[in-house]
Amino acid sequence: MKPDLFQAPDYFNLDELLTDEHKMVRDAAREWVKREVSPIIEDAAQKAEFPKSIIGGLAEIGAFGPYIPEEYGGAGLDQISYGLIMQEIERGDSGVRSTASVQSSLVMYPIFKYGTEEQKKKYLPKLASGEMMGCFGLTEPDYGSNPAGMVTNFKDKGDHYLLNGAKMWISNAPFADIAIVWAKNEEGRIHGLIVERGMEGFSTPETHNKWSLRASATGELIFDNVKVPKENLMPNKSGLGAPLGCLDSARFGIAWGAIGAAMDCYDTALRYAKERVQFDKPIAGKQLQQKKLAEMITEITKAQLMAWRLGVLRNEGKATSSQISMAKRNNVEMAINIAREARQILGGMGITGEYSIMRHMMNLESVITYEGTHDIHLLITGMDITGMPAF
Ligand SMILES: Cc1cc2nc3c(=O)[nH]c(=O)nc-3n(C[C@H](O)[C@H](O)[C@H](O)COP(=O)(O)OP(=O)(O)OC[C@H]3O[C@@H](n4cnc5c(N)ncnc54)[C@H](O)[C@@H]3O)c2cc1C
Repeated sequence: MKPDLFQAPDYFNLDELLTDEHKMVRDAAREWVKREVSPIIEDAAQKAEFPKSIIGGLAEIGAFGPYIPEEYGGAGLDQISYGLIMQEIERGDSGVRSTASVQSSLVMYPIFKYGTEEQKKKYLPKLASGEMMGCFGLTEPDYGSNPAGMVTNFKDKGDHYLLNGAKMWISNAPFADIAIVWAKNEEGRIHGLIVERGMEGFSTPETHNKWSLRASATGELIFDNVKVPKENLMPNKSGLGAPLGCLDSARFGIAWGAIGAAMDCYDTALRYAKERVQFDKPIAGKQLQQKKLAEMITEITKAQLMAWRLGVLRNEGKATSSQISMAKRNNVEMAINIAREARQILGGMGITGEYSIMRHMMNLESVITYEGTHDIHLLITGMDITGMPAF
């Protein structure tokens, strides 16, 4: 792969909206991605391996629980810092960002928000340091966009719960030490349980042959009469709103992360277009290529503004789920369109692993599907503005 010469675009001087702490956190993550992710990521993606060697580094830059208070091992940062870290990691690779998103928003967040003090003390510091890794099991083979229909269930057996069912498409599953599992009790109410690797009847087969998020490990979670200790149920929230609260946090991170992937594609295409000569002139001097590049920077700038404003709203506790849906949907579509256009600017070179663009493009096919598909987020906006659910 070519050396990482990334220069972040900031067409509207958005740095002026950031605090010194935001810039420090962002720059540290940017530097780390250049040093530790860029040199190895193409190889990891080609081999379809999650590069476990970067777990310690992700913890060091605060990517595991950026907004979790320091007393539980988190970085104690605000939502904009969280977003900026996700942006920088996804600039490197959406699969690596997925690992960080799952650990922070889908594992640490529910334990922090819905868990007992004992659960917080037991799990959060180890998750923050990367000593322990987690995954989040909501999707099932027959219930993807409609998780309320889930069939995974647990029964009260007096001194323990008995868990049965299966989850699929679970990021980090093949190596996770714990799984946050959403399952129905005997009354059909959804609860979150912390299931630990090693519990009898719990297995995590890996999903192979993905063309997307190849540097992220994906798998199933299978529960065959798993005895879960009663103290592993997170008691402070139940119902579908509990997993959806986690998804709000993760989708917010994706709205920022997608900007990173788009920035990398734009920056790569711009540099290539200035250097690549055809018909005696750099292709950057051709109107057709300028149209593509000018539209890319316009769309990136709009997405940056939306993410920043959403970060301010989240810091104030005012962001709605529908606003988060709109930002996730808009920014991922923006990124995937930019990846496709950027790929063309590189001509044949664009399909090779010498450049990051094709990898970003394939990764974004998962990002536009998971954490609520593109269609589902549109229906959420539609419901919000009309008051009529059209699911
Ligand atoms: C790489 C990867 C990693 C993932 N990681 C996780 C994870 O860690 N944890 C987890 O729980 N899940 C995870 N997922 C699952 C992901 O969230 C689901 O794939 C997603 O929610 C869509 O579900 P589905 O694949 O079953 O598609 P379906 O729900 O079957 O949807 C198929 C199509 O139908 C459309 N559709 C569905 N309902 C409607 C409707 N009412 N109106 C119009 N169109 C509709 C959808 O938009 C889509 O285009 C992951 C998925 C992938 C690909």
